[in-house]
Amino acid sequence: MKLLVTGGAGYVGSVCAARLLENGHDVTVVDDLSTGHADAVPAGAEFVQADLADTAGQLLADGYDGVLHFAAKSLVGESMQDPDKYWQGNVVTSLRLLEAIREHGTPRLVFSSTAATYGEPESVPIPEDAPTRPTNTYGATKLAIDHAISSYATAHGLGATSLRYFNVAGAHGAFGERHTTETHLIPIVLQVALGLREQVQMFGDDWPTADGTCVRDYIHVTDLADAHLLALEHTRPGEHRVYNLGNGTGFSVQQVVETCREVTGHPIPAAVAPRRAGDPATLVASSDRARSELSWQPKHADLGVIVRDAWEFARGRNAG
Ligand code: UDP
Repeated sequence: MKLLVTGGAGYVGSVCAARLLENGHDVTVVDDLSTGHADAVPAGAEFVQADLADTAGQLLADGYDGVLHFAAKSLVGESMQDPDKYWQGNVVTSLRLLEAIREHGTPRLVFSSTAATYGEPESVPIPEDAPTRPTNTYGATKLAIDHAISSYATAHGLGATSLRYFNVAGAHGAFGERHTTETHLIPIVLQVALGLREQVQMFGDDWPTADGTCVRDYIHVTDLADAHLLALEHTRPGEHRVYNLGNGTGFSVQQVVETCREVTGHPIPAAVAPRRAGDPATLVASSDRARSELSWQPKHADLGVIVRDAWEFARGRNAG
């Protein structure tokens, strides 16, 4: 298929673009490089450096079989301090993209949504029909886009799928996580192993979990990318589907730090710090729907494998 990948110079977008190319698709990446990196765009993809809001119409006029939409602002803390950046950058830009899709009759859309659309869960694992009550602006903007996609599917026959990611981690060969402002647990812990930080702070050890630290569902980025390929194949005109993507197993912050110690052989000093505002104690996905309807099966569910791949990538970047 001829596919447009928005945000394909970012972490998940670049891995997905690489997997699409490996599977024989024709890929154009559009990215404004506000947070992405030009050298993260996989060889073989055509690269357009541009603001999506301004260029979506022009790009889709070329006739695409589908769009995979990753381009977004995605820092929870920043979204609370600078909501305009998120309502404009995520919602307004996505509405422009939807209008371009309608105008040019692009038949398929796969959207990078998030577990943050659910907010504090009533129970875990979280299914797709759980209440959506986002606790931050980032999650609210992604939920707003999900609603807009549903309207376009119903009114204009678009075949769309929103994938709600839990904690994405790991790397796909040369494609991995390279945030200028790093807030995610695994890359931060690996920075300690690389000597780039002295210690990791564990945000709270008095949560209602087995060891008192927060529990999250870590999914390997290659497995996540493969879900996008399946989602693309399974879209049906006029339907908007939603799938949660996680491994279905939770690991605590303490378990992550211990796994990083085992994988890297570094002692990784860790200190307990105050709880981080807005963190739920436990977030684990029910991915049963993706497993049954998309025949999706995570192949790298082991936390040791996820950390190993993230470590190989981080070490390679640090050496390079
Ligand atoms: N966390 C931590 N120390 C850090 C970064 C994160 O203890 O330096 C915790 C955080 O409170 C959460 C978990 O690690 O419980 C995963 O956080 P991350 O930011 O990676 O992802 P989130 O679950 O917020 O999407």
